[in-house]
Parts: sequence; structure tokens; C-alpha cells
Amino acid sequence: MSDYYQLLGVDRGATQDEIKKAYRKIARELHPDVNPDPEVQNKFKEVTAAYDALSDPQKRQQYDMGGRGGFGGGFGGGGGGFSDIMDAFFGGGGNRGPRPRMRQGQDALIRIEVDLNEACFGTERDITLESAVVCEDCEGQGTANNSYPETCSVCKGRGEMQYVQKSFLGQVMTSRPCNNCSGYGTVITDPCRECAGDGRVRAKQTINIKIPAGVETGNRIQMSGRGEVGAGGGPAGDLYVEIVEKNHDFLLRDGENLHIAISIPFAAATLGTSVMIETLDGPTKVQIKGGIESGSTIPIRGKGMTRLRSSHRGDLIVHVDIETPHKLSREEEKHLRAFSAARGEKDGDVKIKRHEEGFFSKFRDAFNR
Ligand SMILES: [Zn+2]
Ligand SMILES: [Zn+2]
Repeated sequence: MSDYYQLLGVDRGATQDEIKKAYRKIARELHPDVNPDPEVQNKFKEVTAAYDALSDPQKRQQYDMGGRGGFGGGFGGGGGGFSDIMDAFFGGGGNRGPRPRMRQGQDALIRIEVDLNEACFGTERDITLESAVVCEDCEGQGTANNSYPETCSVCKGRGEMQYVQKSFLGQVMTSRPCNNCSGYGTVITDPCRECAGDGRVRAKQTINIKIPAGVETGNRIQMSGRGEVGAGGGPAGDLYVEIVEKNHDFLLRDGENLHIAISIPFAAATLGTSVMIETLDGPTKVQIKGGIESGSTIPIRGKGMTRLRSSHRGDLIVHVDIETPHKLSREEEKHLRAFSAARGEKDGDVKIKRHEEGFFSKFRDAFNR
């Protein structure tokens, strides 16, 4: 048995929050819907067991004090017999009595790509996915011809067999799930042809998903009861729809705000101008005051992203770049030299800028919002 902390990749002083985060990250990679490989699924079960123990403060304390998990780890696994003994002592593993055929279904996870427009204003999607659904032939019972599961002749319906084991601790009574009925206490002698006794079949279903305004990459929409139906026709798990936002050609998202970069000619920047820019709300006019410097930002209120579960919108930040003309004609050069002379500029003129007025303040304006 592996160390629970090692399985989750956290240290022993990790907070509940850190444990939860670590588990979510691993679970996302190992989830059956992402990777159905049996070896990966065993790992997923191990990690889930570790999370179960460590996410419950009481169980965690027990584990820290060398409870069930601690012993197993200390003895390096110790083989099946040993862990059975541990089960007998610490009450793990051997669940008493037959286990139910009907079990809770697994949650499912799918990812949906949305563009920036859909993320801002919300959208709807019909998604067709394959999932476990209740077998209609047997209505989830797993039996054919309206028959019933029969009581197991080996364990007489108890679902487990008891063994006496000798060990260094003395004689120990231990129990294992019955091999004949896999611990159910009953045997399906005439299994349903359609689902082979599982009570569920795989089928395609189409689900309408409403994506609210303001979602971003990593957001999950929980759809209760739309996951996989459980064995024996058990209640379905939940379906989680994870949002993946596609990059936009020229708008960059930063939380609630959007950024756009434009460039305008040198003369227009000097004299002032108004330009039309493309936004999520269509073409929008932006006034640019004469004398604007390269790297300036102009915020347009309310043209950014929608805040989730709110009608509030962030800002669109316009980053203005100024084009320096190059490849001047003789005529243009003459005018520009005359312009420069009229302003009393001399060759070699330079001014060092203080932090407050130069590049650094622009940089702060753009990113400290
Ligand atoms: Zn069936
Ligand atoms: Zn049995």
C-alpha cells in the first residue's frame, strides 16, 4: 500500500485546500472518461482512496497516527494475508453482509470549446455523447425473462466467507467476499441478453447544455444525474461540462477585461483622431486625443467580458501604438525637416524620462487593473 500523501503529491502538513486541489488535478488526468486504461483506473482508485482518507479530518488523524493505511505502508504491503489481518483488526475492507447490486453511477466529464463571444454572452449546445444508461430490456435488474437473482448456494446469501488464519498475532477470524457471487449474496442464473446482467448498456444520448455568460477556461457546469448510470441500474452520477475557451484573433482576455492593440499614423496621433474598432458588441468608435504617446491605453467601459452570474461587464482596454513613417519621399522628407526646424528641434535632441512619466507607468496602467 502506497503512502497516501505520496499518492497525492502533497507533504504531510498540507492544508485541506491543498489536498483537494492536488486530488482534483490528478483526478482530471486519470478520470475514466479521459483515460479508460485499466492500469490508470487502478491508480485512480488508489488516489481516490487516499483523498477519501485525507479529506476527512478524523480519518486523516487516524491515518497520521498509524491507522490502517499507516501499518500497511510501514510493512511495505506485506502480502494479501497480512492486509486481511489488518482488515480484521481495524475494520477495513470486510464490509459486513452482501453488497448491493445497485450502485451509484460514475460522474462523467466532457470538455466544450467556446469562442470569446459565446463566453461573454452565453450560449446553448446540443452534445451527443456515449454513456451508460439503464438497460430497457431488464429495467436495470440484469435478469432475463422477469426472473430474479437466486440466493448464493456457497455463502447462503451472506456475500462473504469467513476464514481462520494463524499469524504472529494469534488466530484471527477474517472474511473475504464470496467467490461464487462476488459478494452480492445472490447469483443471476439467467442474465439479461442485452446487458449481460449489468443492468445498463452503453448508448448515445443528446444533452442540451446551457452555457452561462461569463464562463472561462476551467469552469465546470454540473448537470445532476446526467452522468453514467450505475451497475444494477443504480442512480446516475453527474455530468461535468468543462469550458475551454478558444483564443480570439485580436482580443486578449484578462479576467473581466479585454485588451486590443491598435496602431495609428504619427500625424493622426499628433493631431487627434477618431477610429472604429471591432469589439464583441460590433464596431465601436474610439476618440483619440491629439498628442497621444505610443503605448498609451484607452479604457472603454463596459465592453469587456460579462461577470459570471451578473450583468456587469468589464472594460475593453485599447493599447495604442504609433507608426513611425519610414521610406519617406523627397517631398515628405522636406516637409518633415521644415516641421522639425519650426519646432526648434536639433539633431541629437534627447530627453531622459523619469519613471513616473515614461514606459513604466504605462506598463503599470496596462497590467495593474
Ligand atoms: Zn438488461
Ligand atoms: Zn456467495
